[in-house]
Amino acid sequence: MNKLIPAIVSDIDGVLIRGKSTVTNSDIVVKELLNCHYTNGEKHNIRIPFYLLTNGGGCTELQKANSLNKIMGTDFKSHHVFLNYTPLRPIMNEYQNKLILICGAGKLTEIAKDCELKYFYTIDEYSALFDQVPFKEYETETIKQYEADIKQRNMDLIKNKQIEAIFIVFDPIKWEESIQTITKLVQENNNLPIYVVNNDITYADNFKLPRLAFGTFTNALISILKKEHNIFPNIIYYGKPSINTFKYVQTYINEKHENIGNIYMIGDNPASDIRGANQIGWPSILVRSGVFRGSENDVQDPGKYVVEDLMDAYNKILQLEGLKVVQ
Ligand SMILES: [Mg+2]
Repeated sequence: MNKLIPAIVSDIDGVLIRGKSTVTNSDIVVKELLNCHYTNGEKHNIRIPFYLLTNGGGCTELQKANSLNKIMGTDFKSHHVFLNYTPLRPIMNEYQNKLILICGAGKLTEIAKDCELKYFYTIDEYSALFDQVPFKEYETETIKQYEADIKQRNMDLIKNKQIEAIFIVFDPIKWEESIQTITKLVQENNNLPIYVVNNDITYADNFKLPRLAFGTFTNALISILKKEHNIFPNIIYYGKPSINTFKYVQTYINEKHENIGNIYMIGDNPASDIRGANQIGWPSILVRSGVFRGSENDVQDPGKYVVEDLMDAYNKILQLEGLKVVQ
C-alpha cells in the first residue's frame, strides 16, 4: 500500500516574512517545496502540496502572491494563497445574481469582480448614494464617479433591489459609516447574513501598542444592534481560527491531491494558526519567528511541536514523514 503524503499549510506574516523582509532561510524552504521532488523509499517523485493561509486580505490572491514573490524571490501563484475571504468564494458564487454589499478597507471593487460578483455596492458607494452617514457631505464629483461605476455594472438589470448579504472582506476603517449602514440594513432584515473574515481582537506589528483588529469592529456592531435595537445579527465567521476556514482548506487539498495524510499547519500565532489546526486535528507547528516568542509552549493554544522557524518546521516534517529531497 502506498504511504500517505503530507501537505503543508503555512501562515505568511511572522513565518515567511516580517514586514517587508524575509524570515531567515524561509525563501530556501519555499523554493525547495515549490520545485523539488521527494522520496519516501517507495516512491521517488513525490511533491508535497504546499499552501499559504493568512488572515490578510484587501487584495486578490494574485496580488498577494506577486507581492510575496517580490519580497522573497519565490514563484508563488495565486492558487497557493488562501486569503481571509478565499473560503467565501463558493458562497459568493451563490450570490452572483443577487445584490450584496461589500465592506472593509482595500480594493473592494477588484475583489468583488475577481470573485465574479456582478451586482454589488461597495460600502463607500452605498453610504454616499443613500446618504447614510451623519455629519458627512460627499463631494459632487465623488458621487458622480460612484454613479458612473455602478452604471457600468448594469445594476438596473437586477430586479430585487434589496441587499441580500453583507460581506466584510477586510478590516473596516470607517467604523461609523460601516456601522450606520449595516445597522440600517439589519433593521430592515434582522436575518441578513453578515460574513466576516477575521475575529482577531488585537494585532501586533511594529507599533508601540497592539492595535484593535477586525474582531473589535464586529463586537461593536453586535453591541449596538443588541443594545439599541434588540437585534442579534446573523454573523457568520470565517478566517483563522474559524473551523469554516480550516474545513474549506482541508476539502480543497483533498480534492486537488490524492493520498493526503497529515496536513501540517505552521504558524506564529497560537490563538489563530495553532488553535484552528488543533481544532480540526492537523498537526500544528508553532514557530518563534513572529508573534510567539516563549521559551516553552503556548499555554492556551499549544503547538504539537514548537520550533524556531520555518526551516526547522520543514526539517521536522521531513523527519516525521520519512521524506528526503530527490535532487
Ligand atoms: Mg502570523
